[in-house]
Amino acid sequence: MKTDVLIVGAGFAGSVCARVLAEAGRKVLVIDKRNHIGGNAYDTYDDQGVLIHPYGPHIFHTNAKRIIEWLSRFTDWRFYEHRVLASVDGQLLPIPINRTTINRLYGLNLDEAGVAAWLERVREPRDPIRTSEDVVLNSVGRDLCDKFFRGYTRKQWGLDLSELSAGVAARIPTRTNEDDRYFTDTYQFMPRDGYTAMFRRMLDHPNITVQLNTDYFAVRGYVQTIHTVYTGPIDAFFDYCYGRLPYRSLRFEHQHLPDTEWYQSVGTVNYPNDHAYTRITEFKHLTGQIHRGTSIVREFPCDEGEPYYPVPRPENELLFKRYEELAQARQDVTFVGRLAQYRYYNMDQVVGAALNAAGEIAND
Ligand code: FAD
Ligand code: UDP
Repeated sequence: MKTDVLIVGAGFAGSVCARVLAEAGRKVLVIDKRNHIGGNAYDTYDDQGVLIHPYGPHIFHTNAKRIIEWLSRFTDWRFYEHRVLASVDGQLLPIPINRTTINRLYGLNLDEAGVAAWLERVREPRDPIRTSEDVVLNSVGRDLCDKFFRGYTRKQWGLDLSELSAGVAARIPTRTNEDDRYFTDTYQFMPRDGYTAMFRRMLDHPNITVQLNTDYFAVRGYVQTIHTVYTGPIDAFFDYCYGRLPYRSLRFEHQHLPDTEWYQSVGTVNYPNDHAYTRITEFKHLTGQIHRGTSIVREFPCDEGEPYYPVPRPENELLFKRYEELAQARQDVTFVGRLAQYRYYNMDQVVGAALNAAGEIAND
């Protein structure tokens, strides 16, 4: 096989790079070991005809106009603002914690200023803020931390809040008003025809060839290429020479309920303290699809399996830095994406990183 650029992975990182490089006149071969494009953002219709996300719920949100504009070349959008409830003490309460959460949980009737003053009383100021425990205690204090964050985090990561970098819990803000949206980004949309359709259009270019069911490590000796873009786990690329980088995995339990129109009132319900799963998502809320039945997914975190999340904590960062040094010495390979850069990236951040990386390769 011969190509100008070999791209390993047909997720956001690989597909965005492929399109940019193809438009810059390069012949691009995209391979993926899975039997579909889209990486973890892949969506498909289940046996009953409901559009689902096999790798867990994916909600697009960004503040970057450049990114939404670039993706808009390949999809129209459906406006969607995600809302999440947490099952705590027998109630379903808004998360991120807001005024409603605090008033309902503690039987109070505080206005915004009252909530701010109440939080000021219960919070445990921390300085410096290094861990996720510091973040949560510093903003909402111990009781809310234990009810909403500690159990969820233990399940999700197999670690205590105090063992994770601050950035993990810092993804979830605290609010004194009644805003119950999970994200507050300027642009919050779902691709109108789904993610896979968007990827299909992105990869539909005369300079792009896609080959699925192809593992890079099985073919790397046989592909003649000037440059490689690698979007898989960085430790695997270097044959785990410094040891394995921890990635957290998930087992997804999908279920279709033929006689239930709606299973829950919002897109996702979190279960911080009960069950082995962290959350249940009902896809019709996200996609806007009209269907007699409904499809849901439960997420069971685990250590073994597909790598889905880098695990942000200082010792892992240090190990990653060692691999990153090896990566930087490879002028012939670009490492981009959530697994290759070992960053807890959202989709829009991966698109941004891929646009930059591909731009550099194209200008070389
Ligand atoms: P991936 O999508 O993982 O793509 C990498 C591809 O490389 C895969 O298809 C893989 O098969 C392939 N590959 C790996 N190794 C090899 C090999 N050796 N040979 C060939 N192919 C290989 N982000 C949001 O913005 N909003 C959300 O709501 C959201 N929800 C999420 C929910 C879950 C459960 C998870 C796990 C992630 C979520 N994300 C969300 C993050 C989002 O999935 C990622 O930011 C994005 O998909 C990463 O794209 P990527 O191309 O870097 O990696
Ligand atoms: N988190 C939590 N309780 C919640 C929601 C989130 O403790 O109800 C913590 C947990 O550590 C989680 C992190 O915040 O892993 C980030 O949550 P997010 O919803 O962004 O996770 P993702 O959608 O990426 O899995």
